[in-house]
Parts: sequence; structure tokens; C-alpha cells
Amino acid sequence: MSRLCVVCGGSKGIGRAVSRLLAEKGFRVTVLSRNQDAARATVTSLKGGRYRAYLKGLCSPGIAQRLQEVQKTFENIQNTCGNISYLVNAAGINKDSLLLRARPEDMVSVLHTNLLGSMLTSRAALRSMLRARGGAIVNIGSVVGLKGNSGQCVYSASKAGLEGFTRSLAKEVASRNVRVNLLAPGFIRTDMTAGLSEEEGARSIPLGRLGEPEEVAQAVLFLLLSPYVTGQVLAVDGGLQLAM
Ligand code: NAP
Repeated sequence: MSRLCVVCGGSKGIGRAVSRLLAEKGFRVTVLSRNQDAARATVTSLKGGRYRAYLKGLCSPGIAQRLQEVQKTFENIQNTCGNISYLVNAAGINKDSLLLRARPEDMVSVLHTNLLGSMLTSRAALRSMLRARGGAIVNIGSVVGLKGNSGQCVYSASKAGLEGFTRSLAKEVASRNVRVNLLAPGFIRTDMTAGLSEEEGARSIPLGRLGEPEEVAQAVLFLLLSPYVTGQVLAVDGGLQLAM
């Protein structure tokens, strides 16, 4: 049986491109997101995509409740689809504003979805990987987490947090042959960047254009399958961080 990858935030954008590439390469893929119709549509479009599961509430109130929900979802996946070998944490949101104008509820939901959510899904998927003595996790960060950006303090903090989380978890689980890496995209053409002017965005990028979700997916595949790479940060940004 081919290896199973859970893609959190796999219903659209970067996560959907990752799900499609993995399915093309013969992985079994489980897509998680809040919007069940969107998750179902992605799964239906996958080559050989037979497995699906839905995760509500990476951001629901109460950490204990959230932990339980995520844990239950992953147990359900394991019971119905088998051992989880790979996890891609692509679920994320942005609510950009200057810090002084940021609404507290937005600050909480960004930190919970982007940072705490990835911690909870990693924790839930790890049981399966540690038992099998092998697996890989790719967290999706951002160049904004590495370099900072005015108007994105909270988002940047959530993504910078993922860098520390990735390096620390990589150390914790390396002896069990589980690898953890961070991929930091620049400006990628998805719903998240729909408000960005193409021309303005492209001007700041050395390669002169926004990236495509499929280009990020290629790099995710590289990190999932490279057996001697762990604790690394890989920027996929057309050189943007060189100019930041
Ligand atoms: P997107 O098209 O808006 O996709 C975001 C995905 O996350 C969707 O599948 C969404 O599904 C899921 N999601 C959001 N909140 C969730 C929650 N609470 N629980 C479960 N799933 C949730 O955005 P994208 O551009 O592909 O972004 C993917 C990742 O890349 C994010 O972490 C983002 O921060 C990061 N990133 C993007 C860019 C860029 O330029 N696009 C740059 C750097 C980093 P539902 O709405 O159905 O829940």
C-alpha cells in the first residue's frame, strides 16, 4: 500500500496543489479543512483520491477541546486509512493590520490557526510516525516570518513561531527517523494574495513574478522525500527575502 499523507488546509491554494502533486506521485492523500464542500471537491479531483476527512476547529474555543477534536480526527484517519507517514501543515489565515489597529480576536485566531493548529496536528500525527519509526512533517511558514513585514506583526509572529517549533521538534524526533522541516513561501498566487496588485508584488521579487502553488508543491515533495534533511528552512520565494 502506498504511503499516506495528511494535508491540513488541502482544500485550496498551496495545500490543494500539494495534494494534487502527491496524488499524481502515487501517495494516498487525506485532505483536511473547515469547508467540507471545498475539501470534498479537492479530493474528488485527485488522481486516485479515495480518502477524505474533515477537520473543523483548529481555531475553536478551548485548548483542551481543540486538542481532543484534532486527536480524534487523526485517530479516525488512522483507523480508516492506515498509518500516517507524512503531514503537511498548510492551513493558515492572515488578518493583516498595523499592531495598534489589530483586533484582539483576530490576533488570537491567527496565532491559533497558524501556530497552535500546526502544533496540535503534528502532535496527533506523530504517534503514528513514532510507532512506525519513520515519517516526515513539512510546516508551511512564510518569508514574512523570517524577515518581518510592516502591517503583519501577528502573522509574522505566528510564522516565526513555526520556525522555532520546527527546529525543536526536529531535534526531539530525529532519533526515531522522523524529519521536520519548514517551507517559507514568498508571494504565491492564491486567495490569500488576491488583494495584492500583481505589478506591485512582482516589482519587489528578484525573479519578477509571483509564484504558483504548484511551484511550492514541488519543494514540499522534495522536503517530504529527502531522507537526510531535517530541521531546515527552505524559502520558495523567487528571491524575495534577498530584497526584504
Ligand atoms: P488559502 O488559499 O487561503 O488556503 C488556506 C487553507 O487553509 C485552506 O485550505 C483553508 O481551508 C485552510 N484553513 C484555514 N483555516 C483553517 C482552520 N482553522 N482549520 C483548518 N483549515 C483551515 O491560502 P494559501 O495561500 O494556500 O496558504 C497556505 C499556507 O501558506 C498558509 O499557511 C499561508 O500562511 C502560507 N503562505 C502563503 C503565502 C501566499 O503568498 N499565498 C505566502 C507565505 C505563506 P478552509 O477555509 O476550508 O478551512
